[in-house]
Amino acid sequence: VAVLVSSVAVLSEVYGDLLRAAGATERLMELLHAESPVTNPTHPVALPPASGGSEVSLSEVNFTYPSRPGQPALQSLSLNIKAGETVALVGPSGAGKSTVLQLLLRLYDTQHGQITVDGVDVRQADMHALRQRIGIVPQDSVIFSASALENIRYGRPEASDAEVIAAAKAAYAHDFILALPGGYDSFLGERGVRLSGGQRQRISIARAMLKNPPLLLLDEATSALDAESEHMVQAALETAMKDRTTLVIAHRLATVQRADRIVVLDQGRIVEEGTHAELVARGGLYARLAAMQFQTGLPMPAITSAPTQG
Ligand code: ATP
Repeated sequence: VAVLVSSVAVLSEVYGDLLRAAGATERLMELLHAESPVTNPTHPVALPPASGGSEVSLSEVNFTYPSRPGQPALQSLSLNIKAGETVALVGPSGAGKSTVLQLLLRLYDTQHGQITVDGVDVRQADMHALRQRIGIVPQDSVIFSASALENIRYGRPEASDAEVIAAAKAAYAHDFILALPGGYDSFLGERGVRLSGGQRQRISIARAMLKNPPLLLLDEATSALDAESEHMVQAALETAMKDRTTLVIAHRLATVQRADRIVVLDQGRIVEEGTHAELVARGGLYARLAAMQFQTGLPMPAITSAPTQG
């Protein structure tokens, strides 16, 4: 439920009226409001321009969900992410990985400590401006009942058709969209063309790329994809992470291997940090998780070159 609520909250911010048009109920909106007791500052501090990615800092963050008093989700968490860096969050279920993403989006406020994006405390930034700066690729990609073109355009409603198509190409979605009976006009969603998991993810990545945010939050899908889809999704993510800061909840070996840094969370605290090789050599929690988690997934060949497409 937590993940659903939070991704709907983000969607409503990102896609606003479109979501309402798509039939999200007022009741759901109210629920989101009750769950996320944050208010916009009356005199917001402007976020400085971010080129080459946002800078993110969490400093001594303590956070407890309002509905779970006495059970902290994050404790004394400090993490600095440089502009352009890719950081993979790893940890057992309930470690606090999604909570970090939710706090960056300011769906909740911390009880202690500070979170800044490009030097501005998220509580002092205009909420809309903050979320405009952030792109999100959720674990389960939402496909709206609309054409392929419109589905991607939700990433930036004012984008031209040419910009949508460029984003689709960058996300390795162009070829499969062209192969649909109606191309970019094909109707997707429950009553339209049913896409595979990998295709849905690439639509979602195309949306995020169209928005072109300096900060990208990825919640990597856990479900296995067929080898070709896996390869395409990895290639799309590779492009998406370029020239921006990326924080990814990682479930794939390829992703952790590519990250500049892996941060291992356990029970709301950072317990290890390093590269994949460093952490495997260390033989701690990461090494155990990696042995369990990354072996059961689809074996990933190293990506030596991006798949070709016309
Ligand atoms: P998973 O890999 O299972 O998604 P995670 O590392 O992302 O786990 P979080 O979802 O951040 O972990 O959860 C951290 C703690 O906070 C857990 O104990 C979880 O039960 C709790 N929690 C998460 N979301 C909520 C919520 N909306 N309300 C109350 N408690 C929550």
